[in-house]
Amino acid sequence: MLIDPFKRKISYVRVSVTDRCDFRCSYCMSEKMKFLPKEEILTLEELKRLCDVFVELGVKKLRITGGEPLIRKDIMQLFDGLGKKLGKGLEELTLTTNGSQLERYAKDLFNSGVKRINISLDTLDKNKFKSITKTGNFDKVMKGIYAAKQAGMKIKINTVAFKNVNDNEILNLVKWCGENSFALTFIEIMPMGKMGKKRSDQYMPLPEVRNIIESKYKISEDPLRTGGPARYVHCHETNEKIGFITPLTHNFCEMCNRVRIACTGEMYMCLGQEDKVDLKIPLRKSESNDLLKETLYEAILRKPKGHDFEIDREKEEKFVPRHMNVTGG
Ligand code: SAM
Ligand code: SF4
Repeated sequence: MLIDPFKRKISYVRVSVTDRCDFRCSYCMSEKMKFLPKEEILTLEELKRLCDVFVELGVKKLRITGGEPLIRKDIMQLFDGLGKKLGKGLEELTLTTNGSQLERYAKDLFNSGVKRINISLDTLDKNKFKSITKTGNFDKVMKGIYAAKQAGMKIKINTVAFKNVNDNEILNLVKWCGENSFALTFIEIMPMGKMGKKRSDQYMPLPEVRNIIESKYKISEDPLRTGGPARYVHCHETNEKIGFITPLTHNFCEMCNRVRIACTGEMYMCLGQEDKVDLKIPLRKSESNDLLKETLYEAILRKPKGHDFEIDREKEEKFVPRHMNVTGG
């Protein structure tokens, strides 16, 4: 078992399998993003071995992310391998994706054991989609979302709330998700990676999103807690959950049950802090897992109590100097 100094059990690991992506979302990457050389990225075998060790040490849920996880070559090998751990320690295998490759992979993912999936979609407007994602293809993503639905997966749409960009689409997104039986989670923009624009110009506090929803829909608190930042409400008219991820307006760390592995094998004990441990070293140094386990036990003792994200117009912008695509969302 991996237990941190604040007695929080680590039962959830997010694993980024690539820093590359076929989109260039304005809040996530700069358009001139430089990607890491291949040798610095864990191989699929190393990723599998690392995940197996986490499961052995009590991790129940694995989320594969990126970059865009589904553009990694032969990625189904990893899903197929990890799927075999389901029911043998692992309780859930899932992923976060931009949806661009789902038409191709949805069925295979479902067959490998992925029953729930998070798909990121910030707008239902094709032109706006292009301006947010730069290189994304809206029609392809829509086909991907419906392919995942068709394959039988339970879908959650993740939407980053942006001031003056999608704040006029909140109600429409709630309606569309309700019609399709999708859960919906809004995310506050986080200060990850230096960008051209000031984030305080984009930042929309989620209490404002909630007010917009309440202008049309009846919602009530939902007790669901996943150990993460999301707080949920139940929307009566659509009969779906709506989540709010509010790293800026609320602190969510006291129940944190997770760590993140960057595609380089660096483990971040907290998304909002810089401290990390390079798991690539024990993975490559020895074929036995003893050194890796020892490194993990030591690293967990360094998990901090919480993050200190801040977006304040009046102050100089403080940001975590990593882009989200490296650590994985
Ligand atoms: N490419 C996949 C996708 O977009 O779903 C997986 C990786 S992406 C980094 C994971 C999530 O992080 C997405 O939902 C994205 O909207 C979110 N994200 C990226 N940068 C962010 C930021 N600065 N603040 C808040 N959320 C961010
Ligand atoms: Fe790619 Fe996801 Fe980042 Fe968008 S949010 S650029 S889809 S990694």
